[in-house]
Amino acid sequence: MSPPSLIDTHPNLSDTAPVALSYELFPPRSPAAAETLWTTIRELETTAPDYVSVTYGASGSNRDTAVELINRLLLETTLRPLAHLTCVGNTPQELAGIIGELLDTGVRGILALRGDLPKDGAAPVAGSLRYAQDLIELIRRVEQRRSALLCAGKIAVGVAAYPTRHPESPSEAHDVEVLLAKQRSGADFAITQVFFHTDQYADLLTRARRAGVTIPIIPGVMPLTSLRRVRRLGELTGVEPAPELLERLASADSDLERLRIGVDATVDLANAALQAGAPGIHIYTFNEHQSALELLDKLALPRRTHPGIRPDAAARQLAS
Ligand code: FAD
Repeated sequence: MSPPSLIDTHPNLSDTAPVALSYELFPPRSPAAAETLWTTIRELETTAPDYVSVTYGASGSNRDTAVELINRLLLETTLRPLAHLTCVGNTPQELAGIIGELLDTGVRGILALRGDLPKDGAAPVAGSLRYAQDLIELIRRVEQRRSALLCAGKIAVGVAAYPTRHPESPSEAHDVEVLLAKQRSGADFAITQVFFHTDQYADLLTRARRAGVTIPIIPGVMPLTSLRRVRRLGELTGVEPAPELLERLASADSDLERLRIGVDATVDLANAALQAGAPGIHIYTFNEHQSALELLDKLALPRRTHPGIRPDAAARQLAS
């Protein structure tokens, strides 16, 4: 038997890491939306998240606004962007070009996705990659070619994970097999699809760990404060919202009441995930900060203080 490693005999070397915090943003569709988004970005920045993810339209249609937003985040804020990228809508050659472009601007995190298939049933772009797994392999290939340029930071590749069955998948067991395949192809971490029941994240974690998935699986939570949005997201993702939550939101007397109900429900989901061992919380913001900040205040995540943090961010951390 080999002797225990030096690291195992030093408990202080394996201290638990702080809980990660991140937000999802989407590129604005108009100048007015851009103005609102930048107010949100400045508010969220005060909470010193570890990264903010920027979505990518599966058709590739918002490519320019996504790249522009990422550039501004890098140039004008203290935030680290995680760029979403999808197989659908671009050829592999175009994707390799976009990956190179992202790296040139300083991006070091990419969320590799298949992307939603066109709603009208139109065929994906000829020759496009079929699965997220193929995109991970492409990213790793581009990275390998540029390894001398990446000595101060390689690419962290994230993927999607599903607490409830992906609509096109035969079973939850198949979803976990796909997640394992993505890990084998080089994924470093996963962020989950939205979920509406407190046990769903823990169940996914158990299934995934049993199957051999070892990468961090970060729960994605959405402030459940808008009845319309919860319903719409349920339709888009195929995830069934909890009927009792829909009822409570529908019978609320005011926006303030809906905010309270929705934030409390989301706090329950996030706390259940943290108790199950979640290494972080990813908040789907829909480019709004109020409910995300309310959620954070109620969650009181154990966060580290950043040396470069702005005074208002430090005050928020102390208050939580
Ligand atoms: P994949 O992992 O490729 O899976 C797609 C389907 O193929 C699944 O049913 C899976 O079971 C099956 N499959 C995968 N690999 C194999 C294989 N080897 N053999 C057989 N079957 C296989 N969409 C966007 O368009 N833009 C975004 O910015 C975006 N951001 C997202 C962020 C997060 C955190 C999440 C969870 C989803 C996001 N989506 C986004 C939605 C996502 O693109 C859809 O859920 C899409 O339908 C599947 O993407 P995927 O990366 O999971 O695909």
